[in-house]
Amino acid sequence: MYEAIIAGGGPAGSTTASYLRLRGRHVLVLEREQFPRFHLGESMLPWSNDVYKELGIFDEIDRRYIHKPGARFIHEESGTQFTYYFDTAIEAGRPYAYQVPRADFDELLLRNSQRLGAEVRERHEVRKVTFLSDRVSVRVRDPEGVEYTVEAELFVDATGRDTFLANEYQLKEPDQEITTNVACFTHFENCVRQTGTDEGNFSLIMFEGGWWWFIPFRGNVTSVGVVFEKEYTLARRGRSPIELFEGAIAEQREIKKLLAGATRIREIGTTGNWSYRSRLYYGDRYLLVGDAAAFIDPLFSTGVLMALMGGKFAAQAIDEALAARDLSAPRFADYQRKALSGADLFKKLVHEFYGENLRRLLLASDENPALCAAITSMLAGDVYKRAMWQQLVKRGFSTLVDLPPLGPGGAPVSPPAKRSRTSRQVRV
Ligand SMILES: Cc1cc2nc3c(=O)[nH]c(=O)nc-3n(C[C@H](O)[C@H](O)[C@H](O)COP(=O)(O)OP(=O)(O)OC[C@H]3O[C@@H](n4cnc5c(N)ncnc54)[C@H](O)[C@@H]3O)c2cc1C
Repeated sequence: MYEAIIAGGGPAGSTTASYLRLRGRHVLVLEREQFPRFHLGESMLPWSNDVYKELGIFDEIDRRYIHKPGARFIHEESGTQFTYYFDTAIEAGRPYAYQVPRADFDELLLRNSQRLGAEVRERHEVRKVTFLSDRVSVRVRDPEGVEYTVEAELFVDATGRDTFLANEYQLKEPDQEITTNVACFTHFENCVRQTGTDEGNFSLIMFEGGWWWFIPFRGNVTSVGVVFEKEYTLARRGRSPIELFEGAIAEQREIKKLLAGATRIREIGTTGNWSYRSRLYYGDRYLLVGDAAAFIDPLFSTGVLMALMGGKFAAQAIDEALAARDLSAPRFADYQRKALSGADLFKKLVHEFYGENLRRLLLASDENPALCAAITSMLAGDVYKRAMWQQLVKRGFSTLVDLPPLGPGGAPVSPPAKRSRTSRQVRV
């Protein structure tokens, strides 16, 4: 009998397993796919670096992946640009993150959990979980289609957006404020990238009706995707997501510039309907971690950091509960509180973006150095410990500054529409 069985070997599952192994716990990871496997979510945040260090993989990650020193925001309608550099965040010491092909990155994390002693079974799918008074019984289907049962003290659901337990217990609640519902994505070769140390920057192009991501990997492959807001797709009813993707490239100046001469090397994928949260992240003998617990719109590349931190907090809670021989739900309340402390800040930021306020501020925050540093810290993922500057986020960044309204077509009325700026911020 295992101490913990973890369903899902993505970042949340492998990180939970690795931290549990560091605490000497007996762990089984059941993963439905054979790794490496493609996954969305390729841009990391600097605060994930702390987890890589604790798990002993920082040097390997630093060697494999391109550095991401900042996040550049581009306004399609006006051409305005602004780049937030992580080395100007309020807490120093994490000057860059990484852009990672997830097939490779997720496999690195999963193999590391094996190196630390976790048992990992790939192509083993969790089919059913039964909670008994003294243990958990997990029904699994192996690669040959044969079902068998394994048992543990406790079950961790890290099944990502499959949300195994949240579906079973009808715990999922959709985000009422975010109406975004379609993303299209692919990979290109030979895009027009920034040069020098800026090459690995994340670029986000905002346009009326959505936003693009542009994530350059080491070498010459770049991940390009677009998120369409509901109104945008409704106004183009009848078009397939692929037609929307190609139509948007043809119509828009900024993304066209980045794709000039580029060749698409993957099918165009689509996904949708994604912001939700489970009402509870735990119960008697179980926890939900990563996307299995909640998913926030991918706007600020926050998903993997939340999966890693969720895994870390979950492992701590599980270890303490096992030591106390008490795996009842109240033991895990603090786990949820910690996981939500970061998620709530990110959620607030995303809501402000879709409410338009933050879009203006993102392009003009250097007019207020303190705000600029606070936004940089948010974008770096500094959300899991209390800091004074976080009050700015909670109160709503844009209520604190006097910004020009967006003009027709989304262009700022003032300063003049054609403004090109890529500045480093003032350190506070
Ligand atoms: C459009 C889009 C863009 C995104 N961009 C970013 C980004 O740039 N940066 C970022 O950090 N995040 C991004 N994300 C979010 C990111 O992809 C997720 O937050 C992250 O992958 C969560 O990790 P996880 O381990 O919880 O889930 P996953 O990575 O999805 O892993 C879950 C695993 O569970 C397995 N599984 C599922 N069901 C079962 C079962 N029954 N039995 C066994 N195994 C099972 C799956 O095969 C999978 O391997 C994006 C998401 C979307 C939709």
